[in-house]
Amino acid sequence: MSNKSERESLSSKVGDGVIISCVTACLKCDFCKRGMYSHCRRGGWILGYLFDGTQAEFVRIPQADGSLYNFPAGSDEADLVMLSDISRTGFECGVRNGQVTPGDTLAIVGAGPVGLAVLLTAQFYSPAAIFMIDLDDKRLAIAKKFGTTTLVNSSDGKAAQRVMDLTDGAGVDVAIEAVGIPATFDICQSIVAAGGRIANAGVHGKPVELHLEKLWDRNMSLTTRLVDTVTTPMLLKVVRSGKLQPGKLVTHRFPINDIMKAYETFANAAKEGALKVVLTNGQSQY
Ligand SMILES: [Zn+2]
Repeated sequence: MSNKSERESLSSKVGDGVIISCVTACLKCDFCKRGMYSHCRRGGWILGYLFDGTQAEFVRIPQADGSLYNFPAGSDEADLVMLSDISRTGFECGVRNGQVTPGDTLAIVGAGPVGLAVLLTAQFYSPAAIFMIDLDDKRLAIAKKFGTTTLVNSSDGKAAQRVMDLTDGAGVDVAIEAVGIPATFDICQSIVAAGGRIANAGVHGKPVELHLEKLWDRNMSLTTRLVDTVTTPMLLKVVRSGKLQPGKLVTHRFPINDIMKAYETFANAAKEGALKVVLTNGQSQY
């Protein structure tokens, strides 16, 4: 560990405010030692997946020393809760795997919370142009506020063609898939430039068709990743500096007693204009 705050994050005490990482890490196994916490042999992605999640007043976190991060003093709780999962997913699976570089043309396919987290963290690297592609004009309007340079509504099925026209037929240096369905993966394949990268951040439940007959000569690369959460100490510093405010993604807040209302809101996200919904236990600052 290289500095004091990182060391402190490994020693939470009774009464500390902490971020519970979505990925559980023992810090001792071979995968953890390679920084691949997502595949930890004693943890990985288990919360809300292999056993019940953390939407409760009390929760026991296994491998807590590797899976909790102390709240830095003076930070906003909404920013911190967004570091539990989506900010790091967007950053690690999208921006870092896509190797976003200054001057790049970047396309983000999907303006949901993960796509918007990609948008916020991609700007660390000053891409020259950011295209946001989505079906929903409300989400596109939010993406515009958060720094997108060009909005593309994909509801007419012509999004890929529009991106190719806007880039003089070259395509984009980085295409980040942030939905997890075949249609959005197809858009990425259609718009990646020669020498470009496709970084998949979406969780896929169905097979996609890989068009190697078109991609084999493109000098492109395709990456996949389950979020490792290894960038948390770094993102905490950026949040503390005020240069990253992922709390902007929180649109609704409910006390935990109203959890069903919170789920209804999230189930009707498009109608309700919901991005991230926060549950509070009555002791929170909200
Ligand atoms: Zn481990």
